[in-house]
Amino acid sequence: MANSDRNVARYLDDLVKEQGPDGVDERLAPKFHPLSRRLPRNLKLLDNLIERRWGVLEGLEPHRTTLLDPQTQADQERYAHNIENFIGTVKVPVGLAGPLRINGLFAQDDYLIPLATTEAALVASYHRGAQLITRAGGCSTLLLDEGVSRTPAFAFDNLRDVSEFVAWVVTQQEYFSEVAQSTTRHGKLVEMRFSVEGNHVYLNFKYHTGDAAGQNMVTLATEAIFATIVAESPVLPRHAYLEANMSGDKKASAQSFQTVRGKKVTAEVVLSDELVRKGLHTTPKEMVKYGRVAISGSMLSGAMGVQGHYANALAALYIACGQDAACVSESAVGISRMEVTDDGDLYTSVTLPNLIVGTVGGGTGLPSQRACLDILGLAGNGKAKAFAEVCAAIALAGEISLIAAICSGHFARAHRSLARGRGGNGAINLRDQRPDDLSDDLESDTPATDAPATEAPATEAEVGA
Ligand code: NAP
Repeated sequence: MANSDRNVARYLDDLVKEQGPDGVDERLAPKFHPLSRRLPRNLKLLDNLIERRWGVLEGLEPHRTTLLDPQTQADQERYAHNIENFIGTVKVPVGLAGPLRINGLFAQDDYLIPLATTEAALVASYHRGAQLITRAGGCSTLLLDEGVSRTPAFAFDNLRDVSEFVAWVVTQQEYFSEVAQSTTRHGKLVEMRFSVEGNHVYLNFKYHTGDAAGQNMVTLATEAIFATIVAESPVLPRHAYLEANMSGDKKASAQSFQTVRGKKVTAEVVLSDELVRKGLHTTPKEMVKYGRVAISGSMLSGAMGVQGHYANALAALYIACGQDAACVSESAVGISRMEVTDDGDLYTSVTLPNLIVGTVGGGTGLPSQRACLDILGLAGNGKAKAFAEVCAAIALAGEISLIAAICSGHFARAHRSLARGRGGNGAINLRDQRPDDLSDDLESDTPATDAPATEAPATEAEVGA
């Protein structure tokens, strides 16, 4: 028996022993006794409804001022179109990584990057990756493609009807563009594709969405097209669905590398051998050697693409900047690659085809999220492409830092020191241990730490989230 099967059998066996067969039946059976607590029917963000919801949370009054603090209350109205059954806000710590110099098609600056996370060592890891990239003159970033899809499906009685439908629908793209345009000023239908599977037809409508991430925009535009199809198709589908789960919305899919979802960006940097040795305590050769092992590890695990931890950068940046954090599921896909150059330096690139990001709409206008976009200088119109390039650049910084930490044997130590506070109470002592060639850049960053270290604490040059 496989280990996982053995575990399931053991849990069930324990449950039966503890509760008896009748007890298990009782535990797992549907239950219809009256609810002891009920939320108000109205989901809106109104003072009296917030009161009533807190009234339901009996005994939890002390938490009220934590979630519904004065600042949250003052800004309350701004959350009205982002949340239902509102009771307050959760505070996630935010740290800065950088400056990260980006020489991009759209991003051109030394960015301080806000990362919201509760994982110790994460910001420290991106911070050192960012500083090394900056020290190397910055990374280049290239936006390669953009587009967000909705994929309705239509089920017909037979293939004859399918043929008639497809023959008609492929002649309608221009008309559908006009229909879509009636729902949005910034969205634009740019492509229509179809797939036939038996008597089902899947349509893929791809849009440019301006500076918005665009999921609502493409849903509303496709809904209008969908209604037009259902009303005007020469052959009536038996069933029709606005979304058939083919767009890749909130899931990693194999189509990622053939198409785009959101924005597709590639980024690269060359770190000199000296910078890798002094800044990362390893060598380009060692990092590439590990890279080969990691490629095989990815293949053995069945991962989509090859990358170390894009999700760390993207989740933290998305949460800080008002992106839909659930889109990390499709965004954290791509390929990282490392090579030793002819001069013995380290070439590293990342390519992320599914960055679902925006600088208007969604959560980008909420108070703290807007503040983080302002820290980047990337709030509002005309900034989404640069923001997507920042996403790729910070992912690149994280790949470099993580792989170096693994190669130099500092991966666990950084987590032990920063997350568990063992060895210098988790404090970072950069003054003693930072690489000499970075000392000028890091001078102003040195945190105060008086704690004597029993084990040398993780330094900037050791962390890997
Ligand atoms: P949105 O806030 O619903 O729409 C963006 C708004 O910004 C539109 O009203 C758009 O107007 C306007 N806008 C102003 N200036 C713009 C500019 N320069 N570029 C683009 N738009 C501009 O946001 P969204 O990006 O469409 O959707 C993102 C939200 O959808 C996220 O909150 C996400 O959580 C949620 N979501 C929805 C679905 C879904 O299926 N509905 C799925 C996943 C996530 P015009 O439209 O007139 O251009």
